[in-house]
Amino acid sequence: MKPIVKNYKPEIITCPICGNKLSYSYAISAKTISFSGGKHFFVRNLAYKCKLCNNQTYVSATASKFALTGCRYSMKVLFIIYYYKCQKYSREQICDLLADNDIIISERNVDILYKKFLAYLSKDYLLELDKHYNDMLIKFKQIRLSIDLVSYNKRRLVIIRDNFSQEIIGFYVFDSINDPKLKETLGHFLNKNLLITHIISIRKDDTFIPLLKELAPIKTKFSVFLKI
Ligand SMILES: [Zn+2]
Repeated sequence: MKPIVKNYKPEIITCPICGNKLSYSYAISAKTISFSGGKHFFVRNLAYKCKLCNNQTYVSATASKFALTGCRYSMKVLFIIYYYKCQKYSREQICDLLADNDIIISERNVDILYKKFLAYLSKDYLLELDKHYNDMLIKFKQIRLSIDLVSYNKRRLVIIRDNFSQEIIGFYVFDSINDPKLKETLGHFLNKNLLITHIISIRKDDTFIPLLKELAPIKTKFSVFLKI
C-alpha cells in the first residue's frame, strides 16, 4: 500500500525581511517517514522563496522536525531506540519491540540510528550558540526558534532549531519534565534580553510551554507545529 502524501509549506507566509508574499520554489525533501505509532507518510517539505530578497528560501519547521536529515524514521523512533539502548536491550529485542508497533527495522539500522542520535546528543551546542544567534540577527534582524519536545515514558528529548535554516542548535535528553536541568538548559537559549520574535513549538504541555513563556521575552509570539 502506498503511503499517504503530506505536503508541508513553511509556517512563515510572508518574507520576514521585506514582507513580500513568498512563492513556491521546490521540495527540499520528499521521503516516506515511519512514525512511532506505526503510520507511514510520504512527507514533502516545500521550500518557498522571496523573489525580492535574493531568492531567500524558507521551509516547513513541522516537516523538518519529523525526522533528521537523511533519516526515514521519525525522531520519536530514534528516541525509543536510544531509550532501550540505555536500558541495555539488545538490537534484536529493540527490533522486536518496534515490530510490535508496525515499525520494520533491521538490527544494523538500529545501530546506525543509535549512533546518529548519540552524535547529536554529544555535541556542545553552547559553543556555537552566539554565532547562530548573530547570524540570524544580521540576516533577519531577529531570532526565530523551533523547539520540539518528544516524550517517551518519563524521558524527554528537546530539540532546538534555527527556524530560518532549520539547523539543529540544541539537542538534549532529560530524565523527566521536572528535571531541573531542563530549565537551566533552556535558560541558555532563551532570555528576556534576546530579540526572539517567534517560537514554534508543540501544541500543549502543562509544564513545557509555560516554562518557554517564562524564559522568553514577553513580546515573543508563540505558534504550534502543524498536525501530522
Ligand atoms: Zn523579502
